[in-house]
Amino acid sequence: PENPGVVDEVASTSESRDNLSRKIAREVARRRTFGIISHPDAGKTTLTEKLLLFSGAIQMAGTVKARKSARHATSDWMEIEKQRGISVASSVMQFEYRDHIVNLLDTPGHQDFSEDTYRVLTAVDTALMVIDAGHGVEAQTIKLLEVCRMRNTPIITFMNKLDREARDPLELLDELETVLNIRSTPVTWPIGMGKNFRGVYHLLNDEIMLFAPGNEKADQTFEVIKGIDNPRLMEMFPMEMEQLQMEVELVKGASNPFVLEEFLAGTLTPVFFGSAINNFGVREVLNALLDWARPPLGREAIQRKVEPTETPFSGFVFKIQANMDPAHRDRIAFMRVTSGRFERGMRLKHLRLNRDIKVSSVVTFMASSREQVEEAYAGDIIGLPNHGNMQIGDSFSEGEVLQFTGIPFFAPEIFRSVRIRNPLKVKQLHKGLQQLGEEGAVQVFKPVMGSDLILGAVGVLQFEVVASRLMNEYGVDAVFESTSTTSARWVSCEDKKMLSDFERSLAHNVAYDAAGNMTYLATSGVNLRLTEERWPKVRFHATREHS
Ligand code: GDP
Repeated sequence: PENPGVVDEVASTSESRDNLSRKIAREVARRRTFGIISHPDAGKTTLTEKLLLFSGAIQMAGTVKARKSARHATSDWMEIEKQRGISVASSVMQFEYRDHIVNLLDTPGHQDFSEDTYRVLTAVDTALMVIDAGHGVEAQTIKLLEVCRMRNTPIITFMNKLDREARDPLELLDELETVLNIRSTPVTWPIGMGKNFRGVYHLLNDEIMLFAPGNEKADQTFEVIKGIDNPRLMEMFPMEMEQLQMEVELVKGASNPFVLEEFLAGTLTPVFFGSAINNFGVREVLNALLDWARPPLGREAIQRKVEPTETPFSGFVFKIQANMDPAHRDRIAFMRVTSGRFERGMRLKHLRLNRDIKVSSVVTFMASSREQVEEAYAGDIIGLPNHGNMQIGDSFSEGEVLQFTGIPFFAPEIFRSVRIRNPLKVKQLHKGLQQLGEEGAVQVFKPVMGSDLILGAVGVLQFEVVASRLMNEYGVDAVFESTSTTSARWVSCEDKKMLSDFERSLAHNVAYDAAGNMTYLATSGVNLRLTEERWPKVRFHATREHS
C-alpha cells in the first residue's frame, strides 16, 4: 500500500473502539443508581450512613450527619433547613460494594418541598422505600411513591425500627397494598419486636439471622442459623419459634411469591424487616439492590432511545444547586450520564444553546468528599460548574442532536407576587429570580401586562428559601404578596395565530415562565374551566417537560 501508516492507524483505532465498547459495557453492568424515599424521621439518614459503611469509604457512621451539619454551619440559606430540622437539599453519593459502583441519590423528604424531589427521582433506576414500622405508611411516602409509579420505578421496601414496638407485620404489608396500591412480597420476616426482637427469617433462603445490637463497624456479621425447623432454634426461643412457624405458614399462603419481572416492572415490592440503627438487615437490602435491580437503563430522547452502552457520551441535567459547599462558591448542575464515557477535559455539546463547552473541573460525589471526576459512565451523576448557562432538562452529547424527555415541571399550586423595597435593585431582583427560576428553586412568571413578577411553588417553604437567597446572594430585600392567581397551566396550540389571539384577548392572565413558555394564570377553578371551554383548540397542561 502507498501509505501503510494510515492503514495501521485505522486498524488500531477500530481496535481501541472495540476495547472502549467492551469497557463501557462492563462498567455499565456493574452500576446501580437508586434513591431513598421516606417520610421524615423514618431513618433515611441512618440507613444511608450504614450503607456507606459497607463501602469502606467511611469508617465511622455519623459522617453523613456531620457533613450535613458542617454545611448548616457555613451556609446561610441552609439556616432554614437547620431551623426546621429538615433536609431541603438533596445530595449524591457514590460508593463501591461487591465490585459494583453504587450511586445513591438523597431525596428531601419534607412535604413542603417536593418539586426538587420529583425531579431527582427521574434520575434513578430503583427506589428504596424506608418505612418506620411503628408508624406504617405516612403522607410523604404516598406522594413520593406516586412519582415512582408514574415511571414504573422498581421499589425495594425496608421496614425499619423493629428494635422498637412496631405495628403488626401482616398489617404493614396490607397497608402497602391498600394505601400505596403496590403488591408486596416479604423476603424476610421479623421474629418478635421491640425488647423481644430476635431476628429475621429469610423466606427465600430458609435462614434465620439472629439480632444483636449493632455497632459502627462495617464488617459486622450476625449469626445465621439454617432451617426454620433447626432444633437449636427451638431450644433458644421455644415461644417465638412456634409463633414464627405459624406466621410463616400464613404468610407463605397469603402473600405474593417473589417474581423478578414483576419487581422490575414496578408492580411488586420485596419487603425486608430490620433496624437501621443497629445495622441489622441493611446488608440484605444492599445485596438485593445489586442482585435484583437493573443496571442503568436506556433513556428516551425526542429523537430516539439512547442505550447506556453506546460509545458516544450523552447526559442530561436534572437538578441545579447553589452554594452547596461554601469552599466552592459556585452553582452545580447535576448531570446523569446516559451513555458512553465521560472523561475529564472533554468537549461537550450543549444542545439547547448549540454550543461546545469544555468541562475541565467536573466533580463526582464520593461518599467522603467531592472529588474530581476522571471518568464516568451511564448511571453516574457528575457535577458541572454552572455559571448560569445550564437549566434543568438540558441535554449534552458529543455532537448528536438529542433532547432527553421525562424531566417534569409541575404546575405550581401557590402563588406570590414579588416587589422590592429598593427600586434601584430591580436589576438584581430580575437576575436573581432568573437564576433561581432556572435552578428550579421556584417558578418565575413574567406577566404580559404589568411589571410585578409572579412566583409559583408547589410548597410554601420554597418562598422562604427564595427570599433568603435573594437577600444573601443578590442583596435584594424582596416583599412577597398574595396575588389573585390560584393556578397555572402551560398552554400550547397547533394554530399559532389562535395562540396569539389567545395571548392578546387574555393578556391580563397570560405570562411567560423562565424558559419562555406561555402560561395561563387562572384566578379560580371556575375561571380556568371557562377559559378551557371557550378555547377548545388551545391545550392546557398541568405538567410540562423541558423542551
Ligand atoms: P430521616 O429523617 O429519615 O433521615 O431519619 P433519621 O435517620 O435521622 O432517623 C430519625 C430518628 O430515628 C433518629 O433519632 C434515629 O436515631 C432513629 N432511628 C433510625 N433508625 C432506627 C432504628 O432502627 N431503631 C431505632 N430505635 N431508632 C432508629
